[in-house]
Amino acid sequence: MNAKIRLYVEHPLGVGQSVPLDKGQAHYLFGVMRQSVGGQVLLFNGTDGEWRAEIAHAGKRAGTLHCVEQTRPLQMPPDVWLLFAPIKKARTDFIVEKAAEMGAARIVPVMTEFTNSGRVQRDRLQAHAVEAAEQCGGTFVPEVAEAVKFDRLLDGWDTSRKIMFCDEALAGATSELPMQPGPWAILIGPEGGFSDRERGKLHRAEFTDAVTLGPRILRADTAAVAALTIWQQKLGDWG
Ligand code: SAH
Repeated sequence: MNAKIRLYVEHPLGVGQSVPLDKGQAHYLFGVMRQSVGGQVLLFNGTDGEWRAEIAHAGKRAGTLHCVEQTRPLQMPPDVWLLFAPIKKARTDFIVEKAAEMGAARIVPVMTEFTNSGRVQRDRLQAHAVEAAEQCGGTFVPEVAEAVKFDRLLDGWDTSRKIMFCDEALAGATSELPMQPGPWAILIGPEGGFSDRERGKLHRAEFTDAVTLGPRILRADTAAVAALTIWQQKLGDWG
């Protein structure tokens, strides 16, 4: 049995459940992947785990799958969000893709003073998170939130969630990595870094821990992956 194709569907999954495919999925499965009736596919919807399904109907613009058995239970990521200042399009796509692979539970674009990217296309970024989950074997898809302004985010922050503030001004300094379990968010600045005002506000806030990511200044996309790595290693689900 070859069931390597994984698809995210917005439909309940369960024993005997039939799942309709939309135009894009039908094109991908039957046109691109050359699958036909009787073929096996893995499905997940972000809540019901992963299911093996069989193609029951294959059309040009539509199709139907039947769920056969659960192959994996839902595995939620640890409760860590990625807050990041959007940068150039391709690098922002990269950040979202890597955050989904690295097991961020929620992804929030933050508009800081030195953020110089234009409007954030939430739907596009969400599609990148879905694709990343499809390819990395995840059963959960992190939500990409609407972009939010830095001050609004901090002023309305639920202080029970700590922020691991990655501060480039601490490059080369020593800092303690967060060890306190509980809900966390990682904050990464834009290419221009944080303004002095933003940095001051972050250092004064009681719910932040400022950390260094080593002696070199990393690009924002590298910094996002590095920060998620050390957080996962210390507090996450790497075992
Ligand atoms: N232009 C800025 C650097 C911005 S790097 C400067 O030259 O100072 C983009 C973001 O990545 C930073 O805002 C920070 O969140 C993170 N970052 C990069 N390198 C880092 C380091 N060594 N320590 C902590 N955070 C870092």
